[in-house]
Amino acid sequence: MAIHRPVAPFPGDAETLRRHLAGAEVPALLMTLAHLTGDTSLLRDDLRAPGWLFAPQGGLSEERQAEIRERAVQVLLRLGDRAPGTPPGPPDRELLRTITTWAMGDGTEDLLPLLAEEIVRPGQDPRAPDWTLDELGPGRDFHVAVIGAGFSGLLAGHRLAQAGIPFVIYDKNPDVGGTWLENTYPGCRTDVASHLYNYSFAPKADWPDHFCTQDVVLDYLRTFAKQAGLTDHLRLGTEVTALRWDETAARWHLTLRGPEGTRTAGHHAVISAVGQLNRPLLPDLPGRDTFAGPAFHSAAWDHSVDLTGRRVAVVGTGASAYQIVPEIAGTASEVTVFMRNPPWLRPTPHYRRPMPAGARWLCEHLPYYDRWYRFWLLAPGLRGILEGWIVDPGHPPTERAVSALNEELRSSLLASMAAQLPDDPELLDAVTPGYPVGAKRVLRDDGRWLATLQRDDVRLVTAPIDRVTPAGLTAGGVAHDADVLVYATGFQASRFLTPMTVTGRDGADLHTGWRGDPRAYLGITVPGFPNLFCLYGPNTNLVGQGGSIVYFSECAVTHVLGVLRMLLAGGHRSAEVRPETHDAYNRWVDAGNRQRAWGWSAVGGWYNANGRSATNWPYSAQEYWRRTRTADPADYVLRRP
Ligand code: NAP
Repeated sequence: MAIHRPVAPFPGDAETLRRHLAGAEVPALLMTLAHLTGDTSLLRDDLRAPGWLFAPQGGLSEERQAEIRERAVQVLLRLGDRAPGTPPGPPDRELLRTITTWAMGDGTEDLLPLLAEEIVRPGQDPRAPDWTLDELGPGRDFHVAVIGAGFSGLLAGHRLAQAGIPFVIYDKNPDVGGTWLENTYPGCRTDVASHLYNYSFAPKADWPDHFCTQDVVLDYLRTFAKQAGLTDHLRLGTEVTALRWDETAARWHLTLRGPEGTRTAGHHAVISAVGQLNRPLLPDLPGRDTFAGPAFHSAAWDHSVDLTGRRVAVVGTGASAYQIVPEIAGTASEVTVFMRNPPWLRPTPHYRRPMPAGARWLCEHLPYYDRWYRFWLLAPGLRGILEGWIVDPGHPPTERAVSALNEELRSSLLASMAAQLPDDPELLDAVTPGYPVGAKRVLRDDGRWLATLQRDDVRLVTAPIDRVTPAGLTAGGVAHDADVLVYATGFQASRFLTPMTVTGRDGADLHTGWRGDPRAYLGITVPGFPNLFCLYGPNTNLVGQGGSIVYFSECAVTHVLGVLRMLLAGGHRSAEVRPETHDAYNRWVDAGNRQRAWGWSAVGGWYNANGRSATNWPYSAQEYWRRTRTADPADYVLRRP
C-alpha cells in the first residue's frame, strides 16, 4: 500500500493565503512556486547569501521574507484562477536541475536521480519494489524474519509486504517504536528536523514542532504500523537470542524467547533491524552497586521515582543528558552534572519551538510544498557536511582543529557559546571542548543548556569520578551527595547485533569473526552469513545534520530488496557478499574515517570506541544512496539449490 494523504484543492482567497504563508519556510516556498509555475525567474541569485543552506529561512531578513510571501500570494492567486485543483506533475529534469542548483549553489546534475525520488506526486513511492515474489518465483516458499520493530524494522516489513514476501517482525518489547519506545526520559526529542524524520513515502504534515518530542515520534510509528497493515506480522515480546544458518535447508533457525517460552523458528532470510544505540552502557565505576537510592540509565527511565525536591546526579553530557538536565532542573532541588568531555554546540534557535501555524496547512494544501520543504532540510546533508570534519595533514591537525575550516567552525561555535556566558569566563572555560569540532556528536543549541548550567541549583563537576558511594559520587576526592543517580552514559554502539549469537556457514560465529571490530558491506552483509542483512549496521551512522538515519534505512532496505530480487529471480537459495567486495569496501570506508575529525581525535566517544570507527559513515548521504540503490550480481555469490 502507499501511505499518503490526498492533496487538497488549490488554496483559496488572498487572506487565507496570507495567513498561512506566514508559516512558510521562504526558500521552500520559492522552489514550490517555481515548480508550480515553471517560472524560474522567481529564484533570484541575490536572495542567496553564503551559508544560506544552513540557516532557518536561508538567513533572509524579515523584510525580504515578507516581500517574497506577498509575491507568493499574487502568484498563487493567478495560478489558482488559471488551473484550479490541478497541480502539475513532478518537475522535469531541467526544472529539477535549475531549482536545486539554485538552492544548493552548485551543480546538481549528479544528484538528479536521487532528487527525482524526492520530488514526487503525493502518494508516489518510487523506492517501492516494482516486483513481487509471485512474479519472480511463483509458488516459491520463501519467508523472512525481521528483528526489531523500530524505524528500520517497520520499514523493512512494509517493503517486504509490497513485494508480497511473507514475513514476521520480532521485537523484544511489548510495542513497536524501538528506541522511541524505550527512551522516555524527560525532554526526549529528535535532533533531526521532524519533516526529515519520517519515511519519504509517508510524510507527516502536522509535526507540531521543528524537532519533535518522543511521544509524537512514537505515535507516528504506531500509526504507520497500523496503516501499513503490519500489525498482524508483529511478534512482540519476543526476543531473538540466537541465529543459526542451516546450509542444507538454506534457512536461518532463530531461537526465540517469548510469551510461549523458548522456541525456534525457521526463515529463509533474516533482516536485523536492532539499531546501534540500543543496549545501554553503564560506566564501570567502582562501587556502582552501592548507591543507596534509585539509580537508572537514561534509556530505562524510572518514572516511578519522583524527582521533586530531590538531589539528582547526572553522569554524562552527551545528547541524552543535554536534553534531560534542563528539563529536570527546577523540579529537583539540586542537579549535579558530571562532565568528562563537553559537547560542541551548534546554534539552533528554533530547536524547541513549535512549527508555525501555517506550516501544516501548507503541507496539506499547497501541492509539493512539503516535498520542497523536505528537500530544503535534506540539502545540506546530501553531500554531507564533510569539508568541516576532513583532516588536512597540511594544517597540521591538532586536538584543537583538524583543518583551517575546522578551526573556523571552532571559532564560530565558541563565539556563540561565549556570547551566552559574558560574565562567566570560568564556566566558558569548563564547557569549551578540548577536541576538534565533529570528533563527537555536535548538539543543537537554543541557549537552554548553558542557561541551565548557570542556575544556582545546578552544579557542574569536571573532576573525574572516583567512585560511587551509598551517598552519591566522589570526584577528584570531593563527595557529591545525591538522592537519585542518572546514568546518561550512552550505548554499546559498536557491539552490533549483541547479545544475539549469530552462527553462519560452516559454524562461523559472527562476533568471533569480528573480534570486537564489526564490519559489513554497505553496513548490510557479511561474507559467510548468507541471506542475513543488517539495517543501521556497521559504518552507517551519518554525521552531518542534514540527512537522517531514516533516510539511510530507506537506502539500505532498497539494497536488501535488490538482493532478494536477484536471489528470487534467479531461483537461487542464498546470496552472500563476496569477501573481496566486502574487504575492498571496508578499506575504502576505513580510509575515509581515518581522515575525519572523529578518526583522528583521541576523543571519539561512541563515534570511535575502539580506535577504528565501526559506527560512522565518512562520506556523503548521496554516496550511500548511490552505492545502495542497486544490487550488483558481481558482488554476491548466488547459490542454486
Ligand atoms: P553519549 O553521546 O555516548 O554520551 C555519553 C556521555 O556519558 C558522554 O558525555 C560521556 O563522556 C559520558 N560518560 C560515559 N562514561 C562516563 C564516565 N565513566 N564518567 C563520566 N562521564 C562518562 O550518549 P547519549 O547522550 O545517550 O547519546 C548517544 C547517541 O544517541 C547520540 O549521539 C545520538 O546519536 C543519540 N541520541 C539522540 C538524541 C536526539 O536528540 N535525537 C537524544 C539522545 C541520544 P565522554 O564524552 O567523555 O565520553
